[in-house]
Amino acid sequence: MNLHEYQGKEMLNSFGVEIQRGIVAQTPAEAVAAAKKLTEDTGTGWHVVKAQIHAGGRGKGGGVKLAKSLEEVEQIAGQIIGMHLVTPQTSVEGKLVSQVLITEDVYYPGESEPSEYYMSVLMNRATGRNMIMYSTEGGMDIEAVADNTPHLIFNEEIDPALGLLPFQARKIAFNLGLSGKAFKEMTKFVSALYNAYVKSDSSLFEINPVLKTSDDRVIAVDAKVTIDDNALFRHKDYEALRDLREENPVEVEAKAVGLSYVDLDGNVGCMVNGAGLAMATMDLIKQAGGEPANFLDVGGTADAERVEIAFKLILKDPNVKAILVNIFGGIVRCDRVAKGIIEAYKNIGNIEIPIIVRLEGTNADIAKKLIDESGLDVHSVIEFQEAADKVQEVLA
Ligand code: GDP
Ligand code: MN
Repeated sequence: MNLHEYQGKEMLNSFGVEIQRGIVAQTPAEAVAAAKKLTEDTGTGWHVVKAQIHAGGRGKGGGVKLAKSLEEVEQIAGQIIGMHLVTPQTSVEGKLVSQVLITEDVYYPGESEPSEYYMSVLMNRATGRNMIMYSTEGGMDIEAVADNTPHLIFNEEIDPALGLLPFQARKIAFNLGLSGKAFKEMTKFVSALYNAYVKSDSSLFEINPVLKTSDDRVIAVDAKVTIDDNALFRHKDYEALRDLREENPVEVEAKAVGLSYVDLDGNVGCMVNGAGLAMATMDLIKQAGGEPANFLDVGGTADAERVEIAFKLILKDPNVKAILVNIFGGIVRCDRVAKGIIEAYKNIGNIEIPIIVRLEGTNADIAKKLIDESGLDVHSVIEFQEAADKVQEVLA
């Protein structure tokens, strides 16, 4: 689950990570009220208006702007709220902005260049350890830094049994070229950040930029936070942070009925029971010259109702040219699944694309007979290879 910048910052701050202070607003009037409040609390004269969408690169797309007066806060908030913000990380249509974060201006005007660093915390899957990735080249496109000057990106791996050790936090501050008060502030920042990462069961923190102000404060100016969905049951309070407007509507609908559905770009919809079989089926589709349109695991109970919902979800995708159903009847008998498919097909009505059904397992032969005699435009097979050949045939 991804968080908005303002939610991520609040969460970080609750673990003692220093942040650029801000208040979220839905309207220009709320934005002005937020700016006034921030001036009272922080003494800031200028403010920054920041679009809240689940995508980075907002600055480049015109979604982050400095306001030098309350009139400008109102005017800029009015421009940004309701706009379709296009950034290097959104589609060409962009994302609708429904709220902005009003922040204190932490790049104090007139002072020498503040220093922007990059810092992320994530899992290194090759070593199975968390790591802190950081660079002196913050604020800009970290992918470009990785391409052009990879030696300016550092990694610090953390032993899961020991946690982040004090010398590691000092090494990071040292490699970022800090000394004195800023050095100390950075070690505090890194320790609090890592602690927050572990305690919140996150799978990604990306803070770009981490800012060192001219008076040597070290603060998170941006925050991309991804919480591990599999750990959400331990954090019931985080569930309220989910913004369904930012998520794929079909995936949201699938989740509500307990189906694992991931939208993909291909042309063959697939309905499978079991994640392993789903992966194998997607490989099969590719081998047959197609591209999977989705990952869909209907789970152990492939009854008529679930099959019908699954069909409907797949059919929402206009790119789907064929559907491959690949179900292993272990716990659930194939003839029951076949009846479910036939019933679902009849209930939905005008399905205009070919459906290939491969049922293997208990009562597979009875299932094939049921489908073949149903009079519906469904191709039934038992062997995996036959299914592949059929996919190839219907796509040709
Ligand atoms: P992103 O473009 O989506 O990554 O959004 P960021 O939160 O990183 O903001 C983009 C850029 O806005 C930063 O790299 C800064 O250069 C600038 N910015 C952010 N906060 C302030 C601020 O308080 N004052 C000024 N002057 N610029 C800021
Ligand atoms: Mn950023």
